[in-house]
Amino acid sequence: MALDIKVGDVLRMKKTHPCGNNLWQVSRLGADIGMTCQKCGRHVLLARSYLERRVKDVIPRPARNPGPESESGPGLIPGQEL
Ligand SMILES: [Zn+2]
Repeated sequence: MALDIKVGDVLRMKKTHPCGNNLWQVSRLGADIGMTCQKCGRHVLLARSYLERRVKDVIPRPARNPGPESESGPGLIPGQEL
């Protein structure tokens, strides 16, 4: 299975880092993938094929959504009149 990752995505690895963390943020794409440990800040460079076998999950970078609460006015809370 090919990895579909972008810079900023967070990868959950099957194996934890010695620091106890298993989340890594992608910082560089290419023949090698650069990523930074989300806990200790360690930066590593891994071959894509190597990474594909060790990634458990890809967590896409959180999209900057405007937040529905800022746009919708009051009156949307169900059961408020009760
Ligand atoms: Zn670490």
